[in-house]
Amino acid sequence: MAVRPILKFPDPLLRQETVKVTEITDDIRSLVQDLADTMFAANGAGIAAVQVGAPERIYLVDAAVAGGHEEDPPVVFINPEIAWLSDETETKDEGCLSFPAIFVPIKRSLRARVRAMDLKGQVFEMEGEGLFARALQHEGDHLTGRLLIDFVGPLKKELIKRKLKRDALEAQDSDRP
Ligand SMILES: [Zn+2]
Repeated sequence: MAVRPILKFPDPLLRQETVKVTEITDDIRSLVQDLADTMFAANGAGIAAVQVGAPERIYLVDAAVAGGHEEDPPVVFINPEIAWLSDETETKDEGCLSFPAIFVPIKRSLRARVRAMDLKGQVFEMEGEGLFARALQHEGDHLTGRLLIDFVGPLKKELIKRKLKRDALEAQDSDRP
């Protein structure tokens, strides 16, 4: 079990260019295991590799969010691509592990279908609705460097930046002996 530190905004690595996975190597398998451990430890609904500083196009979605059982392992999406988005939308508050305690209303397609590769290298498609569809769209955004803060207006943007800066300073203070 290896929980990796989650990068917080404004870490520039959250905007790094991502790369396609060409082969499922031991490194990829251990990255996926670490992502699962990190997501569970942070109680997240999903996590993208870029959030732990890895450029590979990979994200995980919690099994229960993806319509499975809570004790199932998270669903792994490698080189995911949106295959279809419904015209019907839904606006709901959305959070992100890289923006602790921040929620912003974001309009998303109510249903989404994604094509991706699993850990065996098999291509699969999965369709989701509601929270699952939202997670697919949110995690997909991470792979193109699009973040929660890009959806809000200038005033709210400033507020979020200020809050995260304050939180980071407070965390620094409490780390001091
Ligand atoms: Zn996120």
